[in-house]
Amino acid sequence: MKLAVIGTGYVGLVSGVCFAEKGNHVICVDSDVDKINRLNQYESPIYEPKIEAFIERNLKAERLEFTTDMSDAIRRSDIVILAVGTPSMDNGAADLSYIKAAVKEIAAAMDGYKIILTKSTVPVGTNEMLAKLVASLTDHPFDFVSAPEFLREGTAIDDTLHPDRIVIGLDKNELAATMIALHLSFSEQIFITDIRSAEMIKYASNAFLATKISFINEIANICEKVGADVMEVSKGMGLDRRIGSSFLQAGIGYGGSCFPKDTKALIQIAGNVNYEFKLLQSVVEVNKGQRFQIISKLRESLHQLKGATIGIWGLSFKPNTDDIRDAPSLEIIELLVREGAKLKLYDPIAMDKFKKVLDHPSIKWCKDAYAAAEGCDAVCLLTDWSEFSQINLPRMAATMQNRILIDGRNVFSKDQIESSGLEYYSIGRPLIN
Ligand code: NAD
Repeated sequence: MKLAVIGTGYVGLVSGVCFAEKGNHVICVDSDVDKINRLNQYESPIYEPKIEAFIERNLKAERLEFTTDMSDAIRRSDIVILAVGTPSMDNGAADLSYIKAAVKEIAAAMDGYKIILTKSTVPVGTNEMLAKLVASLTDHPFDFVSAPEFLREGTAIDDTLHPDRIVIGLDKNELAATMIALHLSFSEQIFITDIRSAEMIKYASNAFLATKISFINEIANICEKVGADVMEVSKGMGLDRRIGSSFLQAGIGYGGSCFPKDTKALIQIAGNVNYEFKLLQSVVEVNKGQRFQIISKLRESLHQLKGATIGIWGLSFKPNTDDIRDAPSLEIIELLVREGAKLKLYDPIAMDKFKKVLDHPSIKWCKDAYAAAEGCDAVCLLTDWSEFSQINLPRMAATMQNRILIDGRNVFSKDQIESSGLEYYSIGRPLIN
């Protein structure tokens, strides 16, 4: 099929290359000239495992194009996929300005029938609103389809090629055959529903996963007070298939470009119809506080943050991505800088992006995890990149001023810590050393 994908961010780029990989002709459009220039030289503007090989292979096979020319892309496509951002506004509601702007450009470029498929996460009723907008701008026929995206950064290509399910929301049965043909090579589990339900499925899914995370984090905080071990508790709970073990790892809470904004947007969607979503409000509240467990544990172990040298391992909101949007590291580091601590930062991939958002004379950027720990009073692990679990802890401890390790993701085992010579604090586990 001939597809145009509008927006080449984490979702648009991954979807675009995966649709091309399956033999479709895909034109990826972005308004950011620099992104498009880099992509045309086989260079990905985002870090995502395997993505550059997919870009190169499909560009060379001439199944994939990158352009800033929206009109040309629309005219040469039958299906237009919307994958622009829908960030949070100050009141928590989704900012629809990017998607409205993109839709206006699509309407202006249309020269015949198009299917417009929305992958961006949008509040219930948005596709109907966008359809009215397009109808007010063009006489050409079109249909809107909602196809919310469930990929996770860090495993985005595998998630797209092998999804648990694909959700398609449509309001005309005739569209189902085309949508099934487009998606069947990814999964046979295609759930077709109405547009409003599809829009809600995306928010409800993210809100539910966020709820699991905040739930286990509260259990962890209680475990600390009653002497239980949250790692054992989540293992024991997860063995029950009704509960499942995923999203039950205690830590310093969720971040990223989806859970924080989508939970707030769903609270707002409910609020717009005078429904107070109390459960989700608490989930958000718990998550806001959880990242400061790092600060409480630092205060408990160091007594004084002013003048202390603190190493930070991990800046991205989760491993295998360079995405730092709403990462817990941002607030933690900002607070430590304000308190007068000296910081040594290391992340395998996200340092360049982080530096552009937050830099300060008291921050030193380090080449690896050992360098970030050297001479420190404490080291805090904020992101569970796999390389951190391989660290030789006695070697690192020997270079520290005070041998304190605060593990915000419960990466290290009891055995690793017992032989480390470190004073160790984690989330929801009894003190080991
Ligand atoms: P992103 O910010 O990484 O990418 C958006 C891209 O759209 C940017 O490159 C931007 O330059 C481009 N853009 C904006 N307006 C444009 C226009 N008028 N014309 C052309 N390009 C334009 O965003 P993302 O993380 O890929 O998220 C996109 C959507 O997908 C959001 O609604 C998000 O909630 C949803 N989503 C994201 C993820 C994720 O893991 N990132 C997962 C599922 C769903």
